[in-house]
Amino acid sequence: MRLRPHHLLCTQSYSGKGYDAAFVKNMNELTALLRSDTPVSIEIVFGTDDLCEHCPNMVKKNVCKDNDKVNAYDAKVKEYFHIKEKTCIYQDITREIREKMTPDILEDICGNCGWYPVSACKKTLCRAVR
Ligand code: SF4
Repeated sequence: MRLRPHHLLCTQSYSGKGYDAAFVKNMNELTALLRSDTPVSIEIVFGTDDLCEHCPNMVKKNVCKDNDKVNAYDAKVKEYFHIKEKTCIYQDITREIREKMTPDILEDICGNCGWYPVSACKKTLCRAVR
Protein backbone atom coordinates (compact mmCIF):
# COMPACT_ATOMS: atom_id res chain seq x y z
CA MET A 1 0.00 0.00 0.00
CA ARG A 2 1.34 3.43 -0.92
CA LEU A 3 0.83 6.25 1.57
CA ARG A 4 1.95 9.88 1.45
CA PRO A 5 3.36 11.38 4.68
CA HIS A 6 0.30 13.18 6.01
CA HIS A 7 -1.85 10.13 5.39
CA LEU A 8 0.15 8.40 8.13
CA LEU A 9 -1.90 10.68 10.40
CA CYS A 10 -5.24 10.61 8.53
CA THR A 11 -5.38 6.81 8.43
CA GLN A 12 -5.07 6.71 12.22
CA SER A 13 -7.74 9.28 12.98
CA TYR A 14 -10.25 8.72 10.15
CA SER A 15 -13.65 8.15 11.71
CA GLY A 16 -15.87 7.21 8.78
CA LYS A 17 -16.41 10.54 7.05
CA GLY A 18 -14.91 11.46 3.69
CA TYR A 19 -15.29 13.27 0.40
CA ASP A 20 -17.72 10.85 -1.24
CA ALA A 21 -18.97 7.25 -1.12
CA ALA A 22 -16.10 5.82 -3.18
CA PHE A 23 -13.54 7.57 -1.00
CA VAL A 24 -15.20 6.33 2.21
CA LYS A 25 -15.46 2.76 0.90
CA ASN A 26 -11.75 2.71 0.07
CA MET A 27 -10.82 4.36 3.37
CA ASN A 28 -12.90 1.82 5.29
CA GLU A 29 -11.13 -1.06 3.56
CA LEU A 30 -7.62 0.33 3.92
CA THR A 31 -7.99 1.46 7.53
CA ALA A 32 -9.46 -1.92 8.53
CA LEU A 33 -6.28 -3.51 7.23
CA LEU A 34 -3.95 -0.91 8.75
CA ARG A 35 -5.61 -1.01 12.16
CA SER A 36 -5.34 -4.78 12.49
CA ASP A 37 -2.64 -6.47 14.56
CA THR A 38 -1.10 -8.01 11.47
CA PRO A 39 1.89 -5.90 10.38
CA VAL A 40 1.25 -4.15 7.08
CA SER A 41 4.12 -3.24 4.79
CA ILE A 42 3.66 0.19 3.24
CA GLU A 43 5.58 2.29 0.76
CA ILE A 44 5.89 5.94 1.73
CA VAL A 45 5.61 8.09 -1.39
CA PHE A 46 6.02 11.83 -1.81
CA GLY A 47 3.03 12.28 -4.10
CA THR A 48 -0.45 10.88 -4.67
CA ASP A 49 -1.10 7.51 -3.06
CA ASP A 50 -3.68 4.74 -2.65
CA LEU A 51 -6.05 7.06 -0.78
CA CYS A 52 -5.77 9.77 -3.43
CA GLU A 53 -6.54 7.23 -6.19
CA HIS A 54 -10.13 7.03 -4.91
CA CYS A 55 -10.51 10.72 -4.06
CA PRO A 56 -12.58 13.15 -6.17
CA ASN A 57 -9.91 15.81 -5.55
CA MET A 58 -7.15 13.96 -7.37
CA VAL A 59 -6.58 15.73 -10.70
CA LYS A 60 -3.85 13.42 -12.03
CA LYS A 61 -0.82 11.57 -10.72
CA ASN A 62 0.88 13.72 -8.10
CA VAL A 63 -1.62 16.54 -8.49
CA CYS A 64 -4.39 17.18 -5.93
CA LYS A 65 -6.94 19.96 -6.35
CA ASP A 66 -5.50 21.36 -3.10
CA ASN A 67 -1.90 20.63 -3.99
CA ASP A 68 -0.30 23.51 -2.06
CA LYS A 69 -2.23 22.71 1.08
CA VAL A 70 -1.64 18.94 1.07
CA ASN A 71 2.01 19.31 0.11
CA ALA A 72 2.41 21.62 3.12
CA TYR A 73 0.93 18.91 5.37
CA ASP A 74 3.35 16.38 3.90
CA ALA A 75 6.31 18.73 4.37
CA LYS A 76 5.54 19.25 8.04
CA VAL A 77 5.05 15.55 8.71
CA LYS A 78 8.36 14.82 6.95
CA GLU A 79 10.13 17.45 9.02
CA TYR A 80 8.67 16.66 12.44
CA PHE A 81 8.99 12.88 12.14
CA HIS A 82 11.98 12.52 9.77
CA ILE A 83 9.94 10.66 7.18
CA LYS A 84 11.75 9.35 4.11
CA GLU A 85 10.49 7.67 0.93
CA LYS A 86 10.89 4.03 1.90
CA THR A 87 9.15 0.75 2.63
CA CYS A 88 8.30 0.13 6.28
CA ILE A 89 5.78 -1.41 8.64
CA TYR A 90 2.75 0.83 9.14
CA GLN A 91 2.19 -0.15 12.77
CA ASP A 92 5.84 0.67 13.64
CA ILE A 93 6.02 4.07 11.97
CA THR A 94 2.64 5.22 13.28
CA ARG A 95 3.63 4.18 16.81
CA GLU A 96 6.83 6.26 16.48
CA ILE A 97 4.73 9.22 15.30
CA ARG A 98 2.34 8.94 18.26
CA GLU A 99 5.27 8.78 20.68
CA LYS A 100 6.60 12.12 19.36
CA MET A 101 3.26 13.84 18.74
CA THR A 102 2.10 16.72 20.95
CA PRO A 103 -1.07 18.82 20.71
CA ASP A 104 1.03 21.79 19.50
CA ILE A 105 2.69 19.79 16.73
CA LEU A 106 -0.68 18.41 15.64
CA GLU A 107 -2.20 21.88 15.60
CA ASP A 108 0.73 23.16 13.52
CA ILE A 109 0.40 20.37 10.96
CA CYS A 110 -3.39 19.98 10.76
CA GLY A 111 -4.88 23.19 12.21
CA ASN A 112 -6.33 24.43 8.91
CA CYS A 113 -7.61 21.04 7.69
CA GLY A 114 -11.37 20.76 7.33
CA TRP A 115 -11.33 17.24 8.77
CA TYR A 116 -9.40 18.19 11.90
CA PRO A 117 -12.51 19.15 13.94
CA VAL A 118 -14.53 16.30 12.40
CA SER A 119 -12.25 13.29 12.78
CA ALA A 120 -10.69 11.79 15.88
CA CYS A 121 -7.29 13.41 15.30
CA LYS A 122 -6.37 14.76 18.73
CA LYS A 123 -7.86 11.81 20.58
CA THR A 124 -6.03 9.28 18.43
CA LEU A 125 -2.72 10.97 17.73
CA CYS A 126 -1.99 12.57 21.09
CA ARG A 127 -2.59 9.42 23.10
CA ALA A 128 0.96 9.37 24.43
CA VAL A 129 0.66 12.73 26.18
CA ARG A 130 -2.86 12.53 27.59
S1 SF4 B 1 -7.65 15.67 -0.89
FE1 SF4 B 1 -5.79 15.46 -2.17
S2 SF4 B 1 -4.21 14.63 -0.76
FE2 SF4 B 1 -6.22 14.27 0.21
S3 SF4 B 1 -6.81 12.19 -0.45
FE3 SF4 B 1 -7.72 13.66 -1.92
S4 SF4 B 1 -6.24 13.77 -3.61
FE4 SF4 B 1 -5.15 12.90 -1.83
